[in-house]
Amino acid sequence: MTHEIRHLINGQLLAGKSGRKADVFDPNTGAVQALVPLADDSEVDKAVAAAKEAFPAWSALNPQRRARVMFRFKNLLEEHMDELAELLSSEHGKVVADSRGDVQRGLEVIEFACGIPHLQKGEYTESAGPGIDVYSMRQPLGVCVGITPFNFPAMIPMWMFGVAIACGNTFVLKPSEKDPSVPVRLAELFVEAGGPAGVLNVVHGDKQAVDALIAHPDVKAVSFVGSSDIAQYVSITAAQNGKRVQAMAGAKNHGIILPDADMDQVVADFLGAAFGSAGERCMALPVAVPVGQKTAEEFIARIQPQIEKLRIGVSTDPDVHYGPVVSAAHKARVEHYIDMCEKEGGKLLVDGRGFSLPGHEDGFFVGPSLFDHVKPGMQSYEEEIFGPVLQIVRADTLAEAAALASDHQYGNGVVLFTRSGHAARQFAASVQVGMVGINVPIPVPVSYHTFGGWKRSAFADTNQHGPEGVRFWTKIKTVTSRWPEGAVEDQSFIIPTMG
Ligand code: NAD
Repeated sequence: MTHEIRHLINGQLLAGKSGRKADVFDPNTGAVQALVPLADDSEVDKAVAAAKEAFPAWSALNPQRRARVMFRFKNLLEEHMDELAELLSSEHGKVVADSRGDVQRGLEVIEFACGIPHLQKGEYTESAGPGIDVYSMRQPLGVCVGITPFNFPAMIPMWMFGVAIACGNTFVLKPSEKDPSVPVRLAELFVEAGGPAGVLNVVHGDKQAVDALIAHPDVKAVSFVGSSDIAQYVSITAAQNGKRVQAMAGAKNHGIILPDADMDQVVADFLGAAFGSAGERCMALPVAVPVGQKTAEEFIARIQPQIEKLRIGVSTDPDVHYGPVVSAAHKARVEHYIDMCEKEGGKLLVDGRGFSLPGHEDGFFVGPSLFDHVKPGMQSYEEEIFGPVLQIVRADTLAEAAALASDHQYGNGVVLFTRSGHAARQFAASVQVGMVGINVPIPVPVSYHTFGGWKRSAFADTNQHGPEGVRFWTKIKTVTSRWPEGAVEDQSFIIPTMG
């Protein structure tokens, strides 16, 4: 018997009422392990109404009290780390240690959000004019919405609701329907931490729920993370409906290897960053760009045998490097891109197609693949594969390598491996990509900095978390005030100046 996952609305777990459901798989076995309800418009209305009702009291609470709820929530995340990580792995397929990292990265945003009394402070100018003081305040927006992808079911919801709620907003989260259980557990823990009913709601669904949320007249802001075409659609539609919107999207990150790089480190970093989590990370490193033929030959000679030795297995096995991909459809998509790259002239050095794990023949496993001689213009290079596939694009100079990353349609992350501070500094300043690593293979910024890509990796404006997150989830109000004593000055028909 499969169990049915529930929405969490107004502090209560609720069964779906629409009659529409989707399967949630165990990617290790391919079996359906649960059903997730897909909300209709009335269920979305209910979640938004709960958030709207909770807003006046929550936003009026002083920021230290809101921070205290965040502190308690953070403590509960730590207490429940193992449970959350195991639940996450069971639906996503990433190995449990990696799921712990997923929860931990979200927890770090909650730690950041605990500083909200300081972060949300406005500014003050005394005597901006005669007897005139000016101050600004950052006020919450109201009911906010987060729509999240399958690949970080703990971290990405917390990027959004952690900061939004700390700022005094109330929230409706629409998590991925592929691995919806962890987001519900997060909301339950938030309620246990003292989060009032209606402040954080989780409503499951697909396009219908997303469309209802981004058009809802009571929703003030929408944060989306997912694939690029849908991110673009959500950003345009939500903006047309008058919402503040941010939409993070797909990626194809390049790792450039200069001849002076530490090759031991490069190989170790690429193994983890290209194949960890079966390549299902928007900050994965699926393109290697060795500069110079000698660098390319050395890189291949060193990494190929290591790729052939990678251990793929069930997500609960602590000795494997990566587990299954999320669904049968995604496995087919990744294998389709391997076929495509081969047909386009990529030289297949390691072939991950047709991988089968004994005892788990129906699991969604994909072996690791390595291609050499991949070139710009190939569809398999221009598009995101989001699987355990590393493509090598050879370059003769750093300028040529950097141009590959700068000219690519995606601009999420890029990495330069080098020992040259000068080359690194020039590269970081000029490359047309939002997040840059220098000898750091997955340059996901820490929670008190900010996360966001460029080009088709992010639509609309304003990054996730850090001070940018606080700006996204608040609106600024500026007050110019004077308290005259005695007679009021004469009327004036000219624009007031401080001159
Ligand atoms: P997805 O676009 O399929 O789904 C994301 C969300 O959109 C889900 O909640 C889903 O229910 C909803 N959705 C699906 N179809 C929709 C439609 N037609 N209309 C409206 N909403 C719809 O993405 P995914 O497969 O869950 O996640 C993987 C993608 O997310 C990759 O492209 C990856 O690069 C990207 N991603 C980007 C970042 C980033 O910060 N740039 C982070 C993580 C993942």
